[in-house]
Amino acid sequence: MPAVPSVDTATWIGAFERAADRVGAVLDAATDPVRRLEETGERGSGGDRTLVIDAAAEDEVFVELDALHAAGERFTALSEERGTVDYGSADLLVVVDPIDGSMNAKRGLPHRAVSIALAAGPDVATRGTMEDVVCGLVADFGPGERWTAVRGGGAFLDGAPLTGPAEERVADDGRLELVAIESAHPRHVQESGEALLAHVHRLRAIGAIALSLCQVAAGRVDGMASLWRCRAVDAAAAQLVVRESGGLVAFGDLGLAAPLDLAPHAPVVAARSATGLARVAELPHP
Ligand SMILES: [Mg+2]
Repeated sequence: MPAVPSVDTATWIGAFERAADRVGAVLDAATDPVRRLEETGERGSGGDRTLVIDAAAEDEVFVELDALHAAGERFTALSEERGTVDYGSADLLVVVDPIDGSMNAKRGLPHRAVSIALAAGPDVATRGTMEDVVCGLVADFGPGERWTAVRGGGAFLDGAPLTGPAEERVADDGRLELVAIESAHPRHVQESGEALLAHVHRLRAIGAIALSLCQVAAGRVDGMASLWRCRAVDAAAAQLVVRESGGLVAFGDLGLAAPLDLAPHAPVVAARSATGLARVAELPHP
């Protein structure tokens, strides 16, 4: 293994917490249902139409990244709207989704989150994968839950250690009792129909990939699957939360080798056991 720069994860998670406070304030202020629908007229680096609240949330995250840089940290940032921003080192990469669940935020549905992960390693800014993520935060502004993880140091929900169950719950008919799906375009749901019938007793569609992953970490659902290819910004922090809770995650055939960039490479699936993971891996048809 190449040398990994030593990282004070507490410092970084502290900064991510402050960024989440700032994003939460932006969302709390967006009470006007018409203004929530406003678009900037641009498309983010990830390709989606940018909402005014997406851009405002991202600005708040970058206030904290600017402060880290001013305090002497050197890193690169990768964010959904701005793309790659050079803060002086390619050996640390901050992966940001300013709002995961933008559609929920736009429509006033409660589950919307900010997701921020830190990856470390030689030239991780261009060669990094999910395996390089060393810590992360997902803040769900609906229930006000904060999910954090440190590689090798555990997963936490609102600061309390999080250890999910070792196995999935199975319904009387043998199917996984409850599975969260994302990228739930009706076409994808239709194409996954036979596999969903074969493996899933009941579905939930929260509308935020990071948050569906976190539900797996807590054992609130038995697995999750994005039915289409996801991007690293959506999953980088939450995949570590799942794995540090004792769960398993895979990005299609890439496993954990999904690149930390803005291209959608593979669907993400997660479960509590290898058996469960094999079942949810059959759900996406990208
Ligand atoms: Mg987003």
